[in-house]
Amino acid sequence: MSAFAGGQTYLNYINGEWTAAAAGKTVPSINPARPHEVVGYVPASDRSDLDRAVAAAKAALRPWRKLSGAARGDILFKAAAALERRADEIAETMTREMGKTLPEAKGETLRGVAILRYYAGEGMRRIGDVIPSTDSEALMFTTRVPLGVVGVIAPWNFPVAIPIWKIAPALVYGNTVVLKPAQETAVTAVKVVECLAEAGIPAGVLNLVCGSGSVIGQGLAEHPDVNGITFTGSNQVGKRVGQAALARGAKYQLEMGGKNPIIIAADADLDQAVEATISGGLRSTGQKCTATSRVIVMRDVYEPFKAKLLDTIASIQVGDGLDPDVWMGPCANKQQLDTVLGYIQKGLSEGAALLAGGGRPSDPALAEGFYVQPTVFDNVSPGMAIAREEIFGPVLALIPVDTLEEAIATANDSEFGLSASVYTRDIGAVLAFIQEMDAGLVRINAETAGVELQAPFGGMKQSSSHSREQGQAAIEFFTSVKTVFVKS
Ligand code: NAP
Ligand code: MG
Repeated sequence: MSAFAGGQTYLNYINGEWTAAAAGKTVPSINPARPHEVVGYVPASDRSDLDRAVAAAKAALRPWRKLSGAARGDILFKAAAALERRADEIAETMTREMGKTLPEAKGETLRGVAILRYYAGEGMRRIGDVIPSTDSEALMFTTRVPLGVVGVIAPWNFPVAIPIWKIAPALVYGNTVVLKPAQETAVTAVKVVECLAEAGIPAGVLNLVCGSGSVIGQGLAEHPDVNGITFTGSNQVGKRVGQAALARGAKYQLEMGGKNPIIIAADADLDQAVEATISGGLRSTGQKCTATSRVIVMRDVYEPFKAKLLDTIASIQVGDGLDPDVWMGPCANKQQLDTVLGYIQKGLSEGAALLAGGGRPSDPALAEGFYVQPTVFDNVSPGMAIAREEIFGPVLALIPVDTLEEAIATANDSEFGLSASVYTRDIGAVLAFIQEMDAGLVRINAETAGVELQAPFGGMKQSSSHSREQGQAAIEFFTSVKTVFVKS
């Protein structure tokens, strides 16, 4: 029996109180596997709600930054415990709200727990260096201070992990936060914030304002009292957010799209390479910024790799992510489904050969949900739209190449540079790939998707604002360095 009553109304969290949008408006968050099913009604907030949240965050700043990092970390440890206790319920909410399978949702929720614990510990770690002064009687060192009020704008594809990997470091380093989750996954966001509220976050330190991107997201980016904006989402929106922040001198951090390649070298273990291609490309229905999209295969192994890939893809079960037999759920929303179907048509019209999938599943039971088949295109040339633009769906483009140099050049022939992987046992090929691949995450004999919370995460080129999140890299965005010179 599910713990959720369908159609329950959820609230914003402002200044320590659960509260409806001032105008009383809500929007439904629906289940992409069964779009008639409402997971919950969430506030459709306006600027007055945002203003109250920012004012609360601003007022809460002084006492929060005066606490020790260890004291702030204690609250994150408690939030981790609360999230762990509710992991099954929150994972189920996530699956119902955006479609990823329950094991993936559970894994993500537990990652959220681990991120909270990691940053809880960061509250007691080093925040500066002593630098020898040329004045032998002086002490010179660096310390770090919080940015201030931080606006978090999050996407729907990792509705627990992404908000937490922004909120947790923001809080532990002494900032206060206003979170604007994707409307698509606002119920999941409410439950994450409930865990932090239960942990004893003081009023105003963490605020949640649900609403549309154009009103609340843009409002945060433009708000004069928001000192920093951290954004994950599409390139188009990210650039606008960055411009709005830059225009008023606020700090910003953008994590955006990818068009991630996997290179299959002639000496690759093909079974492992197929598994990595499918896992990296099709899990979460291809809706990861690190998802494998371009499969660059040396001609010597092109045919056997293709045969094994198609064989495995044929066995993928598509359906409701709550069904334990299902491996791939629906697209998260109708717009995403239409985008994916549009790219499949583009691939066909540009002359790529369809090897698998290519449309919606034929099973009448899946007619209503936002389902698309796992899709593979053959003989894709690097100039085609399906080889250049982010699709954010379960579509793989196979690109044949003759040499490793050509493979790396093809992999680099993209405006994006988030993640890239190679399958080979050749140490020379590995070293060349590490050296020459322009991507923030470079993975050898591992899939393109796969992020460890204690390591820096972020992309090159158009994939980010050239900043990094997670691990100890997070301190760079969420604090400012102060250089201190002391003399008696
Ligand atoms: P999106 O449309 O850019 O939305 C991201 C967030 O921005 C949502 O909360 C959205 O709100 C908000 N937003 C929309 N318009 C806005 C505006 N004018 N001003 C300020 N905020 C605004 O992206 P998405 O469709 O949710 O997510 C998919 C994209 O995210 C993909 O392109 C993917 O590559 C990228 N992504 C990147 C990473 C990474 O770390 N590099 C990770 C995950 C996803 P509403 O949607 O609620 O209106
Ligand atoms: Mg939904």
